[in-house]
Amino acid sequence: MMKAIQFTATGGPEVLEVVDLPVPVAGPGQVLVRQQAIGINFIDTYHRSGLYPVKLPSRLGMEGAGVVEAVGDGVTRFKAGDLIAYASGPLGAYAEFHAVVAERAVHLPDGVDAATGAAAMLKGMTAEFLLRRCYPVKAGETILVHAAAGGVGSILVQWAKHLGATVIATAGSEDKADRAKNLGADHVILYRDQDVAAEVRRITDGRGVPVAYDSVGAATFEGTLASLARRGLFVSFGNASGPVPPFAPARLQMAGSLFFTRPTMGDYQATTADLDESAAALFEVIKSGAVKIDIGQTFSLAEARKAHEALEGRETVGASLLIP
Ligand code: NDP
Repeated sequence: MMKAIQFTATGGPEVLEVVDLPVPVAGPGQVLVRQQAIGINFIDTYHRSGLYPVKLPSRLGMEGAGVVEAVGDGVTRFKAGDLIAYASGPLGAYAEFHAVVAERAVHLPDGVDAATGAAAMLKGMTAEFLLRRCYPVKAGETILVHAAAGGVGSILVQWAKHLGATVIATAGSEDKADRAKNLGADHVILYRDQDVAAEVRRITDGRGVPVAYDSVGAATFEGTLASLARRGLFVSFGNASGPVPPFAPARLQMAGSLFFTRPTMGDYQATTADLDESAAALFEVIKSGAVKIDIGQTFSLAEARKAHEALEGRETVGASLLIP
């Protein structure tokens, strides 16, 4: 048997329960992972709350790292004993063991341990596709990154600096602003107090930014829209404050012939080749030291509720892990 987190109704963190379940068996094409670290992601709160519907009762968690305990029929990518990580589910990473599709997992290279892997994979490969493929950031550009002290935000700031961009970051507190500056942000806006668009216009001599990465959603939508340069791209990639409400396309026209995209990692990682390329790019910036994976807080598996309260309460910095 193993310990796992399950919920039978959607709701707040209190719906999460620790249960005893049989250790899963690796089916055809799957590997059984003895988990050493589990990544906590904001998407886990959307599954738990019902914002992203799941079939109940449901397990939780998309990301983890650990040692291959057993391989199912047809698996050639891994063998027992390999250290691997995965970031695209299936739901159920919050557990001591997890059976995952071999083609959706990767080897962790030497020098990247399980904790770093579980903290880096989902958030880092998100940063990879956002900065390199959704909008390829070029040296010398000034870009806007919201929630810059958070899990994805911390990596976005460092990677964007590595690409040679000037980064305008936003953060929810003075402490988080300091953290964003230490990561390399050139300017930090305290978006709970300051007018984001006014600050961005001031910093950019009125021009605005060619791209804005917005994971906050509802609360920052208007400020982000008003921060973009003519023909700029609004990358709306998350809903930490709630989803962006419907808006008329004419808003994009009025704000300067803007582009708007609502991307998700799954579509930028549709094939195993995409996954391998994205992970390789991430491991390269980690190993070179250009991107440091900041594990801000660690919880035991049984503390999953507490971890969700902290994440939704804006109390976390960097990445959060559950340790089984
Ligand atoms: P974070 O560690 O960034 O936590 C979310 C942060 O958002 C908080 O720390 C907080 O920072 C900020 N925030 C602003 N408003 C609120 C609010 N009302 N409630 C809670 N937090 C708020 O989480 P992750 O790194 O796991 O994810 C970041 C975002 O990226 C999420 O929106 C997630 O859904 C999205 N994402 C999207 C992916 C995709 O494929 N599209 C893939 C991965 C992540 P502060 O206190 O500084 O405001």
